[in-house]
Amino acid sequence: MDFELTQEQRHIQERAYRFAMEVIEPMAKEYDREEKYSKEIWEKACQEGLVGVIIPREYGGAGLGFLEVVLIMEQVSRVDLGSGLAIAAATFGSENILFFGTEEQKNRFLPLLAKGKAISAGAYTEPDAGSDVASIKTTAIRKGNKYIINGNKMFITHGMACDWMVALCLTAPERKERHKRHSMILVESDRKGVEVNKLTGKMGIRSSETTEVSFSDVRVPCENLIGEEGKGFHQLMHFFDCTRTMVAAQGIGLAQGALDKTLDYVQKRRMFGRPLGLHQDVQFLLAEMATKIELGRNITYKAAWKVDRGDTDPVLNAMAKYFTGEMAVWVCGQALKIHGEFGPEALYDDFDVQRFYRDAKILEIYEGTKEVEKITISRRLF
Ligand SMILES: Cc1cc2nc3c(=O)[nH]c(=O)nc-3n(C[C@H](O)[C@H](O)[C@H](O)COP(=O)(O)OP(=O)(O)OC[C@H]3O[C@@H](n4cnc5c(N)ncnc54)[C@H](O)[C@@H]3O)c2cc1C
Repeated sequence: MDFELTQEQRHIQERAYRFAMEVIEPMAKEYDREEKYSKEIWEKACQEGLVGVIIPREYGGAGLGFLEVVLIMEQVSRVDLGSGLAIAAATFGSENILFFGTEEQKNRFLPLLAKGKAISAGAYTEPDAGSDVASIKTTAIRKGNKYIINGNKMFITHGMACDWMVALCLTAPERKERHKRHSMILVESDRKGVEVNKLTGKMGIRSSETTEVSFSDVRVPCENLIGEEGKGFHQLMHFFDCTRTMVAAQGIGLAQGALDKTLDYVQKRRMFGRPLGLHQDVQFLLAEMATKIELGRNITYKAAWKVDRGDTDPVLNAMAKYFTGEMAVWVCGQALKIHGEFGPEALYDDFDVQRFYRDAKILEIYEGTKEVEKITISRRLF
């Protein structure tokens, strides 16, 4: 066993944190208030080599692993989860091309992502199908050498910003076997019949772009099929089994950021004649926060390390995602309490912990709610 990060991995961590402090931190409050998504952060992150690092070198990427993605996500989310998603989700969905695409698809699409010339999205959820994603209704019916796509997708990150989305569609809606009806199809966003609307009024990650997408008779060539027809559901499960480590990393980073800010606050704020941090009940709370963050970090690094070894463990990934999401919500709640119970600032958006508290909730929802993760975990127990 070796729990040490390599020098290169530590360097990536430092670079990601420095980038987040220099580029994201100054904008975070304003972007949150104005629900503003900015491509500028993504462009700068591409220049810094922080986007799409798992894309292999032969397709123009850095050829790194999920552990390195986790390290980047953690450091960026430590500063601002919402704007951090401009980096984290810039290649979302296209992992499917990497896992299941043809050589031609990989050569055509992956270099654009790696070089910062394109953004992608993953379009799976629908208004009536989130956790039960197999129930989607969007159809892609083959006619000659084209698929004709009709349906609606909901809560799609980067639906407006993206150049293409990898969409889960029903290619055999009539088929009785529930999990053999789906396929993954790449839909370029400028195709006729694609309409996207931005959703506003989110509680958290307000600077991340969330959209609804509708497909009306969208025609795409059959060569846009990613992987095998009828295998889309199983491909999606594999995709989640890997990418959940990234969401788990967001939880560790966010929680660490909240702890950083709380440590700073308790040393400055004086109470009953001494700094707040010298009160033992506050110290104990900080100790519990730090312990839970470290537990989350360990399970997430292990899960990503196993993905990179070709030994992906869906249950471990589900545990990491579930634990870190819940942990981040709890840690941010404690951070808010320490700021709020002993001072009025916590409820105003001048204080970052308020934003962290609102942002944390999404970690229990997207890429599988915590209940869905528990279903995966408990299945193995039996
Ligand atoms: C900001 C944001 C960004 C998103 N980005 C994307 C994206 O880029 N692409 C994409 O495809 N989707 C995206 N999503 C969608 C997200 O993945 C779904 O919201 C999530 O999967 C939950 O689906 P749902 O909202 O339909 O909730 P539902 O599935 O309706 O669940 C409602 C509640 O019921 C619980 N529940 C459901 N089934 C069970 C069960 N069997 N047992 C116990 N409890 C259960 C759930 O845990 C949840 O608490 C995003 C969502 C948000 C909010």
